[in-house]
Amino acid sequence: MPAGGTQLGAIAILGGMCLAVHAQAQNIDFQTIEIQTVKIADGLYLLMGGPAQGNILVSTGGDGILLVDTMYAPMHQKIMDALAAISRQPIRYVINTHLHGDHTAGNEAMAKLGAVIVSQENMRKRMAAQQNGGPPGALPVITYTDSMTLHFNGEEIYIYHPEPAHTDGDSIIYFRRANVMHVGDVPSSLRYPNIGVTDGGSVDGMIAAARQVMKIANSDTKIIPGHLGPVVGFKEIQQQLEMFAAVRDRVAGAIRAGKTLQEVVASKPTADFDQGRLGGAITPDRFVTLVYQDLSGKK
Ligand SMILES: [Zn+2]
Repeated sequence: MPAGGTQLGAIAILGGMCLAVHAQAQNIDFQTIEIQTVKIADGLYLLMGGPAQGNILVSTGGDGILLVDTMYAPMHQKIMDALAAISRQPIRYVINTHLHGDHTAGNEAMAKLGAVIVSQENMRKRMAAQQNGGPPGALPVITYTDSMTLHFNGEEIYIYHPEPAHTDGDSIIYFRRANVMHVGDVPSSLRYPNIGVTDGGSVDGMIAAARQVMKIANSDTKIIPGHLGPVVGFKEIQQQLEMFAAVRDRVAGAIRAGKTLQEVVASKPTADFDQGRLGGAITPDRFVTLVYQDLSGKK
């Protein structure tokens, strides 16, 4: 009985992991990761756990702690230790930028501590379907359709949903008073981003969402990317837009010419953009594969 029970437990955990996290998570040595805490503004801090973890933006103040995203589940204790160094208040809210595991797999542990999880409604739908009735504590409790505002720690926290971009359930979180915006995995920091091609995301959607960010933010806004950072501005977004547009056109042209995925990857269509963009978790070949899959409809 105990052996059988253990085996079943292991299978259940494995099944959940495969669905909930990126493939890259399997290669992460969580024990060696150290969280770096960066002060962004009064009462706003960024927790960074290396290129594969989603950046956590923390709001602290008299109302308690609010987190944007929760990293992978094994990061929980490191996150708690980092939070203890900046605030002793309870964690009241978690806002998720999108459903990928590097941003949400820590949800369940935060919910157990009393945090109320907030997301766009499509994110919750996809998460509920993926988890197959798995840990309900990881699911958002409050959802919205187009936008909502949270009034917390003296901030006006405007949360809006761009058209389908990185996924079809993305949220951009804008702290208006501090003029700080967490854009999740919408193009921002210099790297090759993941594209949620099986989660309703697309290249064109990511390009459109990055342009929209620059309309809602302003040139002084501290833009927090989903990965790397800690802070970027319009310059980096413009550079990423140029890269996206060029690679998109090259891959689209190759698809029209009848090239296979292997041929397109081998032609290295990102080569002239690689400098400065190799520090992320997504390789150029993986990025090109995602662009090809999106534009060809072969996912
Ligand atoms: Zn993502």
